[in-house]
Amino acid sequence: MNITFFGAAQNVTGSKHLIESNGFRVLLDCGLYQGKRDVSNQLNRKLPFDPASIDAVILSHAHTDHCGMLPILVRDGFKGKIYCTTATMDIAKFILLDSAAVQAQDFLYRTEHAPENQEVFPPFYTKEDVERALSFFEPVPYFRLTEKWQQLNENIRFKFYDAGHILGSAITYLEIKEAGVVKGIGFTGDIGKSGAPILHDPELIEENVDYFISEATYGGREHKPLSVATEQLKALVVEAEKNSSKIIVPAFALGRVQELVYLLHDLTDKGDIPRIPMYVDSPLALNISEVFLKHSEDFNQESWKEFGSRHEQILRFRNLNYIHSIEESKALNTKIGSLMIIASSGMMEGGRILHHLKNNISDSRNTILITGYQAEHTLGRKIQDGITPVRIFDRYYDVKAKVLTIDEFSAHADQPFLLEYIRKLKGLKKLFLVHSELDQSEAFKTIMHQAEPGVSVEIPVLSEKFDLLSS
Ligand SMILES: [Zn+2]
Repeated sequence: MNITFFGAAQNVTGSKHLIESNGFRVLLDCGLYQGKRDVSNQLNRKLPFDPASIDAVILSHAHTDHCGMLPILVRDGFKGKIYCTTATMDIAKFILLDSAAVQAQDFLYRTEHAPENQEVFPPFYTKEDVERALSFFEPVPYFRLTEKWQQLNENIRFKFYDAGHILGSAITYLEIKEAGVVKGIGFTGDIGKSGAPILHDPELIEENVDYFISEATYGGREHKPLSVATEQLKALVVEAEKNSSKIIVPAFALGRVQELVYLLHDLTDKGDIPRIPMYVDSPLALNISEVFLKHSEDFNQESWKEFGSRHEQILRFRNLNYIHSIEESKALNTKIGSLMIIASSGMMEGGRILHHLKNNISDSRNTILITGYQAEHTLGRKIQDGITPVRIFDRYYDVKAKVLTIDEFSAHADQPFLLEYIRKLKGLKKLFLVHSELDQSEAFKTIMHQAEPGVSVEIPVLSEKFDLLSS
């Protein structure tokens, strides 16, 4: 019995971990590496193992860095099943189709515009590859809904706990029998925090967990409570109405948009913010919001109490409009008075947000509201860092609008929550920290050693393999 870390090793992307027992090979996640173009090209073109040799995939959730290489796995010979929750299956469809479309558009654009000495990489996969991969998906409900284990063979079974990270996200618990010994293995995928809107709090694994593979994106940080963010959001909308100004929100279509809309709905119903026109201008976010409405069984009790009892849809309210066509999107340019536009992409690297930035960034009355992590070298990071002017398409624009960052919308657990969760696990012998930059996992390792000196902590490097039977 062993595990090899083929991704998200000392970084936060490309999650994939391979567990082997008696020749049976289970892949936990199959994510795309997202980062610099040449590194992405090297890591995403082909998997670092033979896809035909994998017997089953367990997918934690539908973020691209966890599911984005599934079309390649299937195209290159995988014949097993891809197990995930029903909501993850429904969301992954839109995420993967969007990913294929973005890759195709990007390829076309670069073929025409890239300088001659720059290599243009073809897309990693096509829409057809995605459609084929989708036919291998096998939905498995959260254990709390059916109380049924999923058997992979006579010696391996697993169940899903709620990870509270995004809709459908699951913590996997695997039980493996080998050489007369039973081992319990837990895998967070990405783990959320308690008290997040819409979602359940992360559920604790009840069984013995010999080995725990945990994300540690914020292993060294502590988030402020969500109420701080809510107050900032409230003040911003009130001020926008007063000044007839515009709020431009670059947003991540999966998770962050829905969380933001939920909060705006709640604040509006309570009369805390005025009913200024609000627009969600992202076809992907619209598709995903519809998946949310289909899966209200996955919402937390509070969301149900607040909205379900009034027969309201949590992601719709009177002054909120979902934009469908390009024409409707363009028409937003000519609107006068206060309004809010939420559009993708979250790091401002592409999508409809660029048009809205272009039109509003040089007016000092307006605000650009940043709600998520901005990676180095992106337009979002430049704007966040106060650089002006910035280039949008082929022109430079002075950044005169205010730039406000609200970090508390993060869907990842912070250090105190993660530590508390892990300390509650029963029988833990070894903790593997993945999906984090090295400074964050090192910080978590230090605090974990102080709290639980008996648990060994590993921070695997890429392709590192560990024996799980004798250790
Ligand atoms: Zn995630």
